[in-house]
Amino acid sequence: MLMDRFARRFTYLRLSLTENCNFRCDYCLPDGPDCTSRQAELSVPEIRRLVTAFAALGTRKVRLTGGEPCLRKDLLEVIQTVKAVPGIEEVAITTNGYRLQRDLPAWREAGVDAINVSVDSLDPSTFHLITGQNRLPAILDGIDQAIDLGIPKVKVNSVLLKGYNGGALPDFLEYIRNRRVSLRFIELMRTNDNVPYYQRHHISGQSIKDQLLFEGWQQCSKAKTAGPAQEFWHPDYQGKLGLIMPYSRDFCDDCNRLRVSSLGQLFLCLFTEHHQDLRHYLQSDDTTPLQAALQQFVLSKKATHGLHAQESGATRHLAMIGG
Ligand code: SAM
Repeated sequence: MLMDRFARRFTYLRLSLTENCNFRCDYCLPDGPDCTSRQAELSVPEIRRLVTAFAALGTRKVRLTGGEPCLRKDLLEVIQTVKAVPGIEEVAITTNGYRLQRDLPAWREAGVDAINVSVDSLDPSTFHLITGQNRLPAILDGIDQAIDLGIPKVKVNSVLLKGYNGGALPDFLEYIRNRRVSLRFIELMRTNDNVPYYQRHHISGQSIKDQLLFEGWQQCSKAKTAGPAQEFWHPDYQGKLGLIMPYSRDFCDDCNRLRVSSLGQLFLCLFTEHHQDLRHYLQSDDTTPLQAALQQFVLSKKATHGLHAQESGATRHLAMIGG
């Protein structure tokens, strides 16, 4: 097992496939990807070895993220490869939804079990303002297609942004009334590149939580291994609502995930100062040295991130690591 000094077990790997992204979200990559995104991304055999080592140490779920994973031309091969690794039970993908309508059936056939789509606003012009892309209707159609295709888990991620969607809870609730989706509100996180934006637009998820409880939503109980999101349900709604509040107390206590960048760097935390380079371990099919190294590395994971002290580690933006 991969376990740290605080007895947290890591069964969930978030693997970034590329730093490249075709959206220009204000809070992430407003000016597009920088030059590191042009460095060599992990190849399919390197990904197979990486996931094999993690799976041997108890990883059961892999999320493919980015940047935008659908920009990888070999995405289908990556999905099939990860899905075929013994021990991997769930392959998830986080996407901006750009290719959903076109590619979702093929992703499903290749082995995708869960999909997260980022939708920061249900208003097309606000969506365009935030992301630089005028594609909301097509993305929403893609999400409905995911539900119709029977993808077991369909989630919608929405970053809470004062001035853009702070008052949009009623619209989002209406959206999930008759849809089997889990909507996640994520508090805007401070990264090294977005400090003034963060100061203008950050809002806490607490007011949403208070409103939900007031309106009869109930908090779902969760397994210790379920990760840091708080989930809520309501008998009148098919969808569920989740809150990811990284600034709340004890947020990191339930951390169950490790991250590897598209360049093969291990990040023990989204906001760490240092990373470990894994690429040289990925050149041989013998994953024993990598397993030993991972067990060692994980012992230096800190109890918590430093966001409360305005420390974002070396994280310029989340596309670098995959969010
Ligand atoms: N391109 C994909 C997408 O749009 O979902 C995957 C990568 S994106 C970095 C993953 C998630 O991180 C998205 O839901 C995005 O909204 C979120 N994200 C990016 N920067 C963030 C920030 N500073 N604070 C909170 N969430 C952020």
